[in-house]
Amino acid sequence: TMGLFTKDIKTMNDLFVHQLQDIYYAEQQLTKALPKMADKATDPQLKQGFLTHLEETKQHVKRLEEVFKMHGAQVKAVDCPAIDGIIAEADETAGEVADKAVLDAALINAAQAAEHYEIVRYGSLIAWAKQLGRNDCATVLAKTLEEEKATDRKLTTLAESKVNLRAAS
Ligand code: FE
Ligand code: FE
Repeated sequence: TMGLFTKDIKTMNDLFVHQLQDIYYAEQQLTKALPKMADKATDPQLKQGFLTHLEETKQHVKRLEEVFKMHGAQVKAVDCPAIDGIIAEADETAGEVADKAVLDAALINAAQAAEHYEIVRYGSLIAWAKQLGRNDCATVLAKTLEEEKATDRKLTTLAESKVNLRAAS
């Protein structure tokens, strides 16, 4: 596999394409993880939030395919151990939480770890796309970034307005 700092990545363009492949893998894994998180969630708003973001995430996959094509790059995924780790840890933690209200708080935390990962990746991809003269790609990627940020904000609101209270009572 191609690591971030191996010699396979020589230019900023190589880095851009590699990180597109990385986030493409991450989005695909999230389309599998979100339905499971929705199943585990007890709070109806949280459950619905996961399902809403699942639909958005399917769009994120499609947008990335669009960006690969716009950029003349092969539509391809590379393993992303970071998102695998975030999802594995979420599964593991969920398996260890017996109380349903506490589980909701843990699920929000896990989901926010994934959103923050995506926010970092898309932020850099957008900056690099602009630097490479690909404002067209940046515009498509920015739509996704905005949905990741909105999801993160909704999760914070849900945690602070009721889930944490219920988990602590
Ligand atoms: Fe996404
Ligand atoms: Fe997301």
